[in-house]
Amino acid sequence: MIPERQWLQWVASAAEAAAVRREIRLGIGDDAALLRPARGCELAITTDLMVEGVHFTRARARATGERLATRALSDLAAMGAEPLALFVSTAYPADLAVAWPRELYRGLLAASTAAQAQLAGGDVSSSPGPIMLDVVGVGQCPVGAALRRSGARPGDGIYVSGQLGRPQDAARTARWQLGMALRRRASAAIDLSDGLSTDLNHLCQASQVGAEITAGLLPANNFEAALHQGEDYELLFMLPAGRRPPCGFEVTRIGVITRAPGVFLVHRKARHPLVPRGWQHFAKS
Ligand SMILES: [Mg+2]
Repeated sequence: MIPERQWLQWVASAAEAAAVRREIRLGIGDDAALLRPARGCELAITTDLMVEGVHFTRARARATGERLATRALSDLAAMGAEPLALFVSTAYPADLAVAWPRELYRGLLAASTAAQAQLAGGDVSSSPGPIMLDVVGVGQCPVGAALRRSGARPGDGIYVSGQLGRPQDAARTARWQLGMALRRRASAAIDLSDGLSTDLNHLCQASQVGAEITAGLLPANNFEAALHQGEDYELLFMLPAGRRPPCGFEVTRIGVITRAPGVFLVHRKARHPLVPRGWQHFAKS
């Protein structure tokens, strides 16, 4: 059993030793945190819940902590928001040794500090079953400058950052700096958490457009993994025709937004409907 008071003290001192942001007027230790975003900014807030046996196993506590932070930071990146704070609530079964949550928080703090975000609060409880991990991410963005899924227009170029479909144990970093650089430049953006085929379909539905991407342009060694493997935590974004991507980032143009609905993959000169988690090999178009 993890003693709650001692545990919260450990979390508070570990968080204090990590990144501190001036926008966090008050962090861990009171009934609520106080945040004051920079002048002219609004807050972006995202939540994510991970359940043992559904989203992770106990095998790798530190990597799970990194992943928990990265999921929230990647959502903030997709909005063009600058990360500010994470709030993390956890529930553990009675038989879990305290070494597990310590490793979890070491991973969590490493990832949040790398993004200059501060752990600013949370809660801990016991669980009658699986470990449960909840993260709330808070970021800031100049009013009106947030990137949305709904802004893609026919003729926009489709771009992705980094490499897709890497091995699941590869380290991931949320692309928050790229997200900020895409403000007022990209017409739409989403982070690749569910896989390119799924996330591109989400974005096209939100923008009420279609898309055509080319298999040979995908920045990946494994074509199937690039299309369907989740948790890349790269950004998928659109730039109006003639607009260049920001300098200093690894980005690749993979296709174009179309007026006609439907998402298509061009592979070996044939055009295949690209549906979430799959592509229909023999469909005519
Ligand atoms: Mg997302």
